[in-house]
Amino acid sequence: MNVEQTIEKLYVVFIRRPLTVLRIEVNKLGKKHKCYVCGQTFRAFYPYRTDSASASSFLKELNMIGRGVDDFGCFYCNSSDRERHLFMFFDKLNLWQEFTQAHVLHFAPESNLSQSIRRMKPAQYVMGDLYPSNDEITRIDLTDIQFPDNSFDFVICNHVLEHVPNDRKAMREIFRVLREGGRGILQTPYSSILGKTFEDTNINSDEMRIRFYGEATHVRVYGCDLFERLEESGFRLEVVKNDELYSRNECSYYGVDHEEGLILVSK
Ligand SMILES: [Zn+2]
Repeated sequence: MNVEQTIEKLYVVFIRRPLTVLRIEVNKLGKKHKCYVCGQTFRAFYPYRTDSASASSFLKELNMIGRGVDDFGCFYCNSSDRERHLFMFFDKLNLWQEFTQAHVLHFAPESNLSQSIRRMKPAQYVMGDLYPSNDEITRIDLTDIQFPDNSFDFVICNHVLEHVPNDRKAMREIFRVLREGGRGILQTPYSSILGKTFEDTNINSDEMRIRFYGEATHVRVYGCDLFERLEESGFRLEVVKNDELYSRNECSYYGVDHEEGLILVSK
């Protein structure tokens, strides 16, 4: 190890890490926000890796709904804004009980939400992901779901469709595996300014996708025609407005986007 590396290591061990710990501890003393999932209070949520200040001027113009990147994560339970928001919707709409004895497909499962769904004792609970992070999660391609028609009573797919190149096929597949009368939650960020979804195959590098779509792994910015796409896939659509359930102050307190409604679909 040379002198520079030694100084860098000393800096990390004796200055940067203690400062980070101190910042987290001071944050925990605050009461400005509360995590709806774990109930802890603190001064601020931690931001997503691309916060709103670092968004491109293009994205800043789009009034993105459901892109909560500043009030993002809870230091205690690691819940994200979109995960907390589902807890809030499920409580107000009494959706938890629908999981009892139900066949549930949860795509890209959030850990707190998974635990709460399990507690409702579903008859079958399948966690799926294109890139499973552990053995409990089944590898499932949303555009080719390896389950028969009418397999599930409930499908949860929270902030996934914006990553899927052939999203219409994914929507049709989710529709296919839902039983008649089954329901799904299909949250995805969208622009309230754009009438039409913006996607262009020439936007083909990480840098360009971050600039135009907000994330290297996003393949589009949905416009308000998102809802038409869902209906064209066969779903009956009900968007439950957040403002009818929670005040803006409550949304700020819990760190969720008050403009983001619940995109509830049924077959
Ligand atoms: Zn929490």
